[in-house]
Amino acid sequence: MREKTLAIIKPDAVKKRVIGKIIQRIEDEGFEIIKMKLLHLTKEEAKAFYVVHKDKHFYDSLTEFMSSGEIVVMILERENAIAHWREVMGATDPALAKPGTIRREFGFSVERNAVHGSDSRATADWEIGFFTEKMGLD
Ligand code: UDP
Ligand code: MG
Repeated sequence: MREKTLAIIKPDAVKKRVIGKIIQRIEDEGFEIIKMKLLHLTKEEAKAFYVVHKDKHFYDSLTEFMSSGEIVVMILERENAIAHWREVMGATDPALAKPGTIRREFGFSVERNAVHGSDSRATADWEIGFFTEKMGLD
């Protein structure tokens, strides 16, 4: 069944000027880009987006990083989009991600790992709602 997922190109990848390469990969993988926007989150907005991780040791550093520069937010649609995008991204830690994945190719560290992707249908709905309603991704 076709479904939607939320993808983000994180500030490290935008600064490395690999937006184009990542979007090419997204298209090559058969995703349709339904919405796309270049945004610069405030720290408060990054904290709201990652609220699920609020008790983790990396929450402050992660939200500082995610608000440190421009990001590209996209809604992607495809058959099995959520799981497929997770597979194309690779493991959270680029050093552990499989060769050929985006995080292996472009990630720098477990925090600065180039891309984000929703991890379930419920998360995708919530994350798409967050950017649609709060961030004007319309
Ligand atoms: N992260 C981090 N340190 C960790 C684990 C995660 O800085 O030990 C960051 C990393 O940028 C990751 C994000 O927090 O992408 C969200 O973590 P999650 O466990 O949800 O990983 P993901 O779903 O992005 O693979
Ligand atoms: Mg996650």
